[in-house]
Amino acid sequence: MGRRSIKNSGVVLFPIPADGHLVPMIEVAKRLRQHSPTLSITVLLMQTPFPSVLSATQSTASHVQAAESSGLGIDFLHLPPVEAPEGLEGLACMLQYVENLKPVVSDALASLSSTTTISAFVLDMFCVAMTDVAAELRISATYVFYITNAAGVCYRLYFPTLDRIHQQDFKDLSEEIEIPGWPPLSPQALPQAILSKKSPAYPGLLDGARRFQQLKGILVNTFSELEPVAMKALADGRCVPDGPTPSIHPVGPLLCLQQPGSESPDHECIKWLDQQPCGSVVFLCFGSLGAFSGEQIREIARGLELCGHRFLWSVRVQSRQGQLSLDEVLPTGFVERTRERGLVWSTWVPQIAVLSHSAIGGFVTHCGWNSTLESVWFGVPLIAWPLYAEQKMNAVLLVKELEIAIGLKGAGQSDLLVKGEELPKAVKSLMEGEEGMKIKEKMKRLKELGRMAVQEGGSSYSTMAALVAEWAKIDE
Ligand code: UDP
Repeated sequence: MGRRSIKNSGVVLFPIPADGHLVPMIEVAKRLRQHSPTLSITVLLMQTPFPSVLSATQSTASHVQAAESSGLGIDFLHLPPVEAPEGLEGLACMLQYVENLKPVVSDALASLSSTTTISAFVLDMFCVAMTDVAAELRISATYVFYITNAAGVCYRLYFPTLDRIHQQDFKDLSEEIEIPGWPPLSPQALPQAILSKKSPAYPGLLDGARRFQQLKGILVNTFSELEPVAMKALADGRCVPDGPTPSIHPVGPLLCLQQPGSESPDHECIKWLDQQPCGSVVFLCFGSLGAFSGEQIREIARGLELCGHRFLWSVRVQSRQGQLSLDEVLPTGFVERTRERGLVWSTWVPQIAVLSHSAIGGFVTHCGWNSTLESVWFGVPLIAWPLYAEQKMNAVLLVKELEIAIGLKGAGQSDLLVKGEELPKAVKSLMEGEEGMKIKEKMKRLKELGRMAVQEGGSSYSTMAALVAEWAKIDE
């Protein structure tokens, strides 16, 4: 009888290479290492050949480089490029590209399996099609790391039910939509990609949502104290009414607090903030992709002039405006008139360093989940200006459920301008009003709870420890 070979247990992580997805997945890898010095950790890195919002940027490359050279023993396996889908754009293109990647992922996993027992395969939310490959290779412990919130998991798990309940397109519904874990939602708050059942990404997203229901578990970048309502809806099984709910593991907030290349206190924005009084500056920043039309930029500028508060404004002109520079778009004389109290910044800002600065008093955000968690981490109250994807749903969550943001009238309504006058109203209410006081108090509490959650003994720390204990003990 041959001797039984002992293999090391290993976890394979499979992110997409967009900033907001890859960076938190690398944070998962770091936490796994924190809990287990021996578990093998491999990140499968795809290369997307198309110029798309879902491609790697210089910033993602620097995050990978930093993790590769960290000495933490996180292996990055660069997958060969495969055929790019033709005639598709954005999310639909990404989902099809993931389909095309199945053979190379299968090869990579098969090769890893010869030396390692893969005890967990952790997928990006847009890579759930890989459950096929996992099944083929008999990897039963397939998880998703959900980079947004527990409420988002409720939506994703409930999506097949929503699709069944509503025969017509969501965009044509006149009534509000009920999703467990959410306040009632206007149909327009749903992501653009699912508003019409004929949208190219709809079938892939629906198929993905059905696969979500079959997962062993879902890790979520949240902490249970932040989202009790969504966590309860999941625990009660209300999001999958006709079957079992996968186990839910809140492991956040997972943040990359040392962003490569942005620690420098010499950054122009930080030096400028050093000169401003405590809590006096409103920060405006709209994620890695947020950009505005020239007309909208002029309205924001008008609002900031009317407002009178100090501001740090990170702004980008939409590329469909051609090669117009910011100077050509801003109202004449705006920079000079506001020089004493404002800074306009047209490239990447070191957001973590900005949000941690004592001069910051409020944050006008696109409601991306990383930005939201970073604000919670530093206790900065929010004004919600959602732009696309799940951001409109997040805005509802932040304003109505979590009560940590003030809504901005008109924001998130496609093709409509947010009028300049709305900005000073929201800023005044946040910086001076009673509603702002309540939000500040809540943020202060959440800041403490969020930090406790990831400390030894905290809820997310214990959740991660339990997962790692399970994954590390599987040997052959
Ligand atoms: N970010 C930054 N500087 C910028 C814009 C964005 O550092 O000028 C960072 C921000 O701190 C956050 C991430 O990029 O960590 C954006 O992620 P989020 O989920 O908020 O939005 P997305 O870019 O995915 O829409």
